[in-house]
Amino acid sequence: MSFPLGKMKFVFAFLLVILAANLLMAQAVRTNQVGENERMVPTGDGHAVPEAKPVGGTVVTGNGINYNGGPVLKGNPVPIYIIWYGNWNGTGSNTPATTSLIEGFLASNSLGGSSYEAINTTYGDNTGNVSGHLNFIKAVFDTGSQGTKLRNSRISAAISAQLTGGGLPTDPNGVYLFITSSNVSESGFCSSFCGFHTHQTLNGADIKWAFIGNSDRCPSACSIQATGPNSPATGVGGADGISNIITHESEESITDPDLNAWFDNSGNEDADKCNFKFGPTGTASNGARFNQTFGGHNWMIQMEWENSRGGGCDQTLGGPFFTN
Ligand SMILES: [Zn+2]
Repeated sequence: MSFPLGKMKFVFAFLLVILAANLLMAQAVRTNQVGENERMVPTGDGHAVPEAKPVGGTVVTGNGINYNGGPVLKGNPVPIYIIWYGNWNGTGSNTPATTSLIEGFLASNSLGGSSYEAINTTYGDNTGNVSGHLNFIKAVFDTGSQGTKLRNSRISAAISAQLTGGGLPTDPNGVYLFITSSNVSESGFCSSFCGFHTHQTLNGADIKWAFIGNSDRCPSACSIQATGPNSPATGVGGADGISNIITHESEESITDPDLNAWFDNSGNEDADKCNFKFGPTGTASNGARFNQTFGGHNWMIQMEWENSRGGGCDQTLGGPFFTN
């Protein structure tokens, strides 16, 4: 495993993240130093709030991550909506093969019902636990209503248009994934983050949404390997890169939807604590590494932080912990 980003680049990225993280939580790009992501100190809404004392039986603490008093998403399953933004009828990984693969990846009989997603059941709030289930509900395409050079306000406008226009339901209990084709830029994407999640009031509801960039725009920063287990051709790893970023941002959107529930003393949410850590891997027929098999496919997705047994990164609920 190589981590090609140099230290200076990281320092630059670190500063950008501090500037950018006031209203969102970002997945850092890959780094070449163990634990670098631990130094990120996002300053989301709740970070000055002291750790709340557990009230019900659903909040378990003492496992390296703190409960800060806010709600988690408790849908069983949590509904997932997708806005495919940009040109998804293109070449490389910007194709219907990718959109189909990812929609299937998020289904209840794939990621949505996996023993991996079940790791999230170790998180709760004072009224209940995360179900550990999610399910893809609906996708829409936006071929570029906000252009190809995005910033957060343009993403908000594009999502809002889907809600007010009825393309997607207005669901404060769901997660909206805004996934961009590789010709689309977003301020900070590839230089400081691969994805991020946030929440804001759109169409009158508290909407949780995440930006997911096609990692083929910057594979050295946002893909763990150039060719993934689902690559259509050598070096076209975007779909697998997207699946990895989705696991990161969806887990965090569920356990910290309003940026005031679960994160540690450094501001790291559950997926941040295992960012680009995969654990043991196998080798697919095309030579790519993978660490999960469900829904009829092999996947290479980061581990998640289990909030039990002292805390650690694992591939399945109750499985062994691994440090990278
Ligand atoms: Zn994160």
